[in-house]
Amino acid sequence: MIYADNAATTYFKPEKTIAAVCEYLKHPGNPGRGNNHMAMDAARMVLDTRIKLADLFDCDFDHVVFTSGVTESLNTVIQGLFGPQDHIITTYMEHNSVLRPLYRLGCRLSVCGGSTEEIKKHIRSDTKAVIINHVSNVTGEINDIEGIGKFCRQNGLLSVADTAQSAGVLPVSLKESELDVICFTGHKGLLAMQGIGGICLGEDIDIRPLKVGGSGFASFDTEHPKQYPSALEAGTLNVPGIVSLNRSLDFLKECGIENILRHEQLLAEEFCRILSSFDGVKVYREKEKEYTGIVSLNVEGMDAAAVSDILSREYGIETRAGAHCAPLIHEHYGTESTVRFSFGINNRKEDIRECSEALKEIIKIRGHEA
Ligand code: PMP
Repeated sequence: MIYADNAATTYFKPEKTIAAVCEYLKHPGNPGRGNNHMAMDAARMVLDTRIKLADLFDCDFDHVVFTSGVTESLNTVIQGLFGPQDHIITTYMEHNSVLRPLYRLGCRLSVCGGSTEEIKKHIRSDTKAVIINHVSNVTGEINDIEGIGKFCRQNGLLSVADTAQSAGVLPVSLKESELDVICFTGHKGLLAMQGIGGICLGEDIDIRPLKVGGSGFASFDTEHPKQYPSALEAGTLNVPGIVSLNRSLDFLKECGIENILRHEQLLAEEFCRILSSFDGVKVYREKEKEYTGIVSLNVEGMDAAAVSDILSREYGIETRAGAHCAPLIHEHYGTESTVRFSFGINNRKEDIRECSEALKEIIKIRGHEA
């Protein structure tokens, strides 16, 4: 099998991550909910992971909040910070985990491209925030969140970055980029388990929690504690997920995320170079833009789902076809779906040759059938 669906979830998880999760499950404890050894060990593990995440995202460790993933993070931030009276600027590259909470909120919305120039054109007197996808999960396009964060700070706007496709692949610094909020997920570039993610918050960001409940302390108070991270972490944390993040963060540090990015970009660029000589393949990349290891394409005259299905059934190449939960980018490119190849650290140069050979054969067969 050639797994090229890393944008959905990364296939490779470090051995040490898998081993640590198995070990934890033999001695589980509930952090902050007991002074027995297991609870204390779990609490230390949670704190250690917060510190490692604070190092990765360049923020304060007690402003790292754990959630179940970027979807919960974005829901928490959007519903907890904004209201229907606010005007929010976002991009056509957003995932439904940004768009649907915004639609439900009923806020005033402007949608544009992911550059400072485009955002600037949409600012109004009631604009409260800019929500920006760091990397499109459809095309792999990289947006300049550093420039946008700084621009927002200068213009008195809050900035929220969705780093679902960039965390663990591209450097992201809350402080240097002057971003207010970073939302991340564990199971993609961070090489951890599904069901764990988080929010990194800057100073003075007052989010009304979506859920309140057990906090492990101040139990007689009728109100949930207001200080971070507890304010946004009601209930027992996903400790196995946090353990997996902890070990995967070590792995990423050893590898160097810049080496991972380079590896994935080289594979994607080589793939695009080969595809450029094929007739009838449309690749959704633009010359002057930067991309990660994602390549979205369509084969002329063929349904994206059919192409992806043949790749899987006949060649053992696993991709994803569809709209990828990002409807607006399809309006931009005039498509309804694409075949998405997303390369990761599990992929080798030979995979690129095999993927392009398979596509070449599919195009040939389609030619005969047409
Ligand atoms: N945003 C982007 C850009 C994504 O690619 C994804 C995952 N496809 C999400 C948000 C949602 O991530 P999760 O399902 O891990 O919450």
